[in-house]
Amino acid sequence: MISLKSVSHQYPGGLRIAFKDWQINNGDQWLLLGESGSGKTTLLHILTGILKPSAGDVQINETSIYNLSAKELDQFRGRNVGIIFQRPHLIKSLNISDNLVLAQSLAGLPTNLNRVNEVLTSLGIADKKKSYPNELSQGQLQRVSIARAVINKPALLIADEPTSSLDDKNATAVLELLLQQSGINQATLVVATHDKRVKDAFTNTYALS
Ligand code: ADP
Ligand code: MG
Repeated sequence: MISLKSVSHQYPGGLRIAFKDWQINNGDQWLLLGESGSGKTTLLHILTGILKPSAGDVQINETSIYNLSAKELDQFRGRNVGIIFQRPHLIKSLNISDNLVLAQSLAGLPTNLNRVNEVLTSLGIADKKKSYPNELSQGQLQRVSIARAVINKPALLIADEPTSSLDDKNATAVLELLLQQSGINQATLVVATHDKRVKDAFTNTYALS
């Protein structure tokens, strides 16, 4: 369970963004809605331990994450949080399989090629495992980003505007995959978007104004 209490953030020289309290239960699937500039990325960074807010408390399973040491927080993030960025963050000189093995190794986990195959198969791109990122289409790359985010079975899966650069068909497919992958991996899902096409797929929404 994640809870956000009285959290607000002010970048140096910027306006204060106040976030209403939020409780996310394990296994929930949430849409985080807000126009561009409303604070979605800021809030995702606060939720995942990347950005300490100027005020307020963020608890994950009853631990206030910003009371952890930097090392504890890094370890916590590597083990528990999978992030899908707006554009895929992959190493161009490594093939798809090796990119996923790298994600295992960065989290301090042993190489597990069975897991790599399992994830790529569930995303329908097992035939691309020896391909390099520049040999894949944008829709396929987005699937690899999802694979990279779920490879270590994170408890929390976060996607920041995963559909904004995709056409309708790929946007729908990516959302279905996120919902499916959060189900398969029993991960809590939070998807930030300003994409109006996305809204109907989720029962829980948290709106920024
Ligand atoms: P969104 O993801 O909804 O588009 P952001 O969280 O990126 O919104 O930004 C919220 C506000 O904070 C915007 O006004 C943005 O300009 C500002 N902001 C974001 N990141 C920084 C930063 N690193 N330094 C200063 N201001 C920032
Ligand atoms: Mg953003």
